[in-house]
Amino acid sequence: MKPAASKSESWASSKPPLLRFLDRCHADFSSETGGDVADYIPELGKADPDHFGISLATLDGHVYEAGDTTIPFTIQSMSKPFVFALALDTLGAAHVESAIGVEPSGDPFNSIRLNSENHPFNPMVNAGAITCSGLLYETKGRDAFDYIRQALGRFAGRELGVDEAVYASESATGDRNRAIGYLLRTNAVIKDNVAAVLDVYFKQCAILVTARDSAIMAATLANRGVNPVTGEQVMTPYAISRTLSVMTSSGMYDYAGEWIYRVGIPAKSGVGGGILAALPARLGLGCYSPRLDKHGNSVRGIKVCEALSSHYDLHMLNRSDDARNSIIADYTIGKNPSRRSRRPHEQKILDTHHRDVRVIELVGTLSFSNVDYVSRRLAATPRPQFVIFDLRRVAAVTHAGARLLAEEFRELENFQVMVILSGIKRSSAGWKIVREWTGGLSNLRDFYLLDTAIEWAEDQVVYRHGGSIDFHDVTEFSEQPLLAGLASEELSALASLGTVRNYRAGEKIVAAGDPATSLFFLRSGVVHITLPDGIRLATLTAGMAFGEMALLEPRRSADVLADASASAVEIPISGFERFRDQHPKAGERIMRNLAQLLADRLIVANTKVDLLTAT
Ligand code: GLU
Repeated sequence: MKPAASKSESWASSKPPLLRFLDRCHADFSSETGGDVADYIPELGKADPDHFGISLATLDGHVYEAGDTTIPFTIQSMSKPFVFALALDTLGAAHVESAIGVEPSGDPFNSIRLNSENHPFNPMVNAGAITCSGLLYETKGRDAFDYIRQALGRFAGRELGVDEAVYASESATGDRNRAIGYLLRTNAVIKDNVAAVLDVYFKQCAILVTARDSAIMAATLANRGVNPVTGEQVMTPYAISRTLSVMTSSGMYDYAGEWIYRVGIPAKSGVGGGILAALPARLGLGCYSPRLDKHGNSVRGIKVCEALSSHYDLHMLNRSDDARNSIIADYTIGKNPSRRSRRPHEQKILDTHHRDVRVIELVGTLSFSNVDYVSRRLAATPRPQFVIFDLRRVAAVTHAGARLLAEEFRELENFQVMVILSGIKRSSAGWKIVREWTGGLSNLRDFYLLDTAIEWAEDQVVYRHGGSIDFHDVTEFSEQPLLAGLASEELSALASLGTVRNYRAGEKIVAAGDPATSLFFLRSGVVHITLPDGIRLATLTAGMAFGEMALLEPRRSADVLADASASAVEIPISGFERFRDQHPKAGERIMRNLAQLLADRLIVANTKVDLLTAT
């Protein structure tokens, strides 16, 4: 036996733990044979009582499946939440909410009773659901059913069909529902042809779904209306959150209170044997097993939901979050300056005023509590003049988080503190949210790269304290840190080996990968050192050397580009080697200076690493 093959075989048979859990639920609860298949709609009585399927859809669009997850069954009352959401979005919340209440009824689902205002108690009982179908019939007429079928298909992510036999069977026997329909019309809750409205309702209940469809439909509810498999925004977040509300209070027939107390996951069941459960921001579960308990809920479906909730402690009201973990690093530019090398007088200003620029690097989701914590942390320390919020690791901003953040920016504006954002692309959804909430703020800037943001803030500090940055200044060799300590004859001997070169803005001076045959001393202007993928390693101004790694390495490891127009003295390595032979002490001094400059860079790099691991 080849060991490599056996290794990969055993790995291939490994299962994600959640799938193993569902398999175990399927195996454990298959022996549960209590309850009866519904037969008050005669055709439903033909379902195979042993069918049992469990699907769980995650919000990144993965679907776990155990058992009979592709067996179609009629959706029945599981259609109610989706049709309610559709009515809210189609007709407007005010219209729908004035026709149907949202209180639990305490009565069976098919009770022929309205509330004290002669309206249905809620959209999860038949009276409320028939009203939803009636309202849609009022605007869509004969197209109402197809309109509903297509909407449910968007929740499931596929076109859904109808079980004609079940539809005909309920249509032939559904007199209770007819009674409800006439009661609604006599109270002017529905205005139209009762028979036609009931036809829409009976057909909608006979739509065929599988356990897999139910899980994806539930996951769409859990995902603020975005189908996690197709990515389509099926309904508005308003309609979805209100639908989940009524599922919470009235989704499980007369067992709703007990359900939300014990399981704590909004759910809806149907007499066809389905249960779907939607845990907001987490998952959608779909179960199918047609044996029902006395309330009309699937016996095995209930067991699966209870097991999932208790095993992983998923009760929706049992949550906590640490507001502090969204700050990954918090420092002033004293600890983490930009990669721009500064001339001594600029550096002095920055050393004195490093507290003027505060950088807060954030991570994860910016929620209500996270942003509140950030604003208190800022307020607790001396007020800076610039705050940089680095958002590159922020995955999402909640509505409340965005609102608080905008309010914090406004607060900072009142104190003339400049807010600088980095790490968000202008084309991103996050940027749109930030702009939407912060429109009109005069104190807001953004730079994609944190380093550019820090450099910009540093420049402002330098300007404010009188250190002008003059790009036309020409520096002498004696100002070069790499040449510090050389005697003037040595400096002029070295200068005589060089050639003055002038570069236009944007010109490439050195290309990564080329042979390193010379080194450069920048006399005036600014250059950038960047990696081939565009990451900036450093910005140099007059008085600094570049390409000096040629003293150690035979090839260029980075590009050097003129930022503004620049001039530099280029000295060929061959000439430099001759200079070293003739002036061994100066040569040694330069190599020592080089070692010192590299050590300084390493210290800065280590501080940056530290900043990210220490917070
Ligand atoms: N079509 C069924 C009825 O109205 C649905 C009942 C249910 O699933 O709760 O009786």
